[in-house]
Amino acid sequence: MQNKILEVEKIIGNELKIIDEIAFYNSNKVINAFWQNKVSESHFSATTGYGYGDVGRETLEKVYSDIFKAEDALVRNQFISGTHAISTALFAILRPKDTMLSITGKPYDTLDSVIGFNDNASSLRAFDINYDEVDLIGDDFDYEKIKEKITSQKIKLVTIQRSKGYSLRKSISLEKLEKVIKYIKNINQEIIIMVDNCYCEFVNKKEPIEVGADLCIGSLIKNPGGFIATNGAYIVGKKELIHLCSERLNVAGEAKEVGPSLGATKSFFQGLYLAPSVVANSLKTSIFAAYILENKGYKVEPKWNEKREDIVQMIIFNEEEKLIKFIQGIQMGSAIDSFAIPEPTEMPGYDDEIIMASGSFTQGSSIELSCDGPIRPPYVAYLQGSVTYEYGKIGILKAIENVK
Ligand SMILES: *Cc1c(COP(=O)(O)O)cnc(C)c1O
Repeated sequence: MQNKILEVEKIIGNELKIIDEIAFYNSNKVINAFWQNKVSESHFSATTGYGYGDVGRETLEKVYSDIFKAEDALVRNQFISGTHAISTALFAILRPKDTMLSITGKPYDTLDSVIGFNDNASSLRAFDINYDEVDLIGDDFDYEKIKEKITSQKIKLVTIQRSKGYSLRKSISLEKLEKVIKYIKNINQEIIIMVDNCYCEFVNKKEPIEVGADLCIGSLIKNPGGFIATNGAYIVGKKELIHLCSERLNVAGEAKEVGPSLGATKSFFQGLYLAPSVVANSLKTSIFAAYILENKGYKVEPKWNEKREDIVQMIIFNEEEKLIKFIQGIQMGSAIDSFAIPEPTEMPGYDDEIIMASGSFTQGSSIELSCDGPIRPPYVAYLQGSVTYEYGKIGILKAIENVK
């Protein structure tokens, strides 16, 4: 097995080197933010109750602001998930009769009830907030349609989802993001640009605020939590928008001043410190998987030598049986619950049955080796994560063995 791995690594070696170089660059960014903000042991102490005067929480938010080149940040354990942070931002900014526009087609499935596709009484739609969307054409933005939408009606907010969710498209690069943001702002400076940055943090050298986004959001049980954070999410961006988000998350009039860290701050700092390396390990695992599976005749996206925008690796199996066997194999190769055998099940918010391998230390954590997919043609596995490249390789080989 070791010989086979060495053979593969000879071929993918240059790609692995590029990943190392980006991880070095991003580690510099992170450590510089620690230095600038004089992160100290005293920042690790817990606050309880209202959480007034939480210097650790405030310093962490300054560190996030520096890394993401944002005016302000909200990094909180009170966020249940990435979806909760996105929902908080939408409810914070939009008012009755306002319209939001998604320009990457239908957003991530868990936002269905937030937007109100299904008549949820707590949705934006229930508050008379409108939704419109423009699909991508191929893998790029539909500039003509976007122009038509933002000039023919008043759009308050444009949302852009970089990662692909369970779609078959490519993820959105920073170059494409920059171009479309410039295009929109040239037509109407007032439109607020919100970016769902889930799975994209530290994959490249820049982040969305640097290319003109007003708000950028992600989950701490994905990339920036570095496997150490056990819950939470972040929002970074314009100061007045972060203020609105904090008042929606917490309470009007108390904004960022409240929110007990309950001891989570140390793990948020530790996770952020490790995040560039953990993301690199996850990317290496994806490259390794892409190379081997492509050579076995499966279509993969991205290809092993293609530039990556997120940590997600698509493997197109075209056969239900193979998809299921692969995902079960990832579970067998995981650290936790390796003996469990995942089966396709119905899940709230999804039209098709879903099968998920998540043998993770933290429930639902997908910066840890994980793999999932909907049971529908073309039977695609969405593979992501791995805290170390070594465990990643072991898991991938186990899964491939299980497909045979
Ligand atoms: C993971 C993810 C989210 C948020 O999901 P949670 O499970 O609620 O944290 C949102 N958008 C995309 C594209 C994602 O991958």
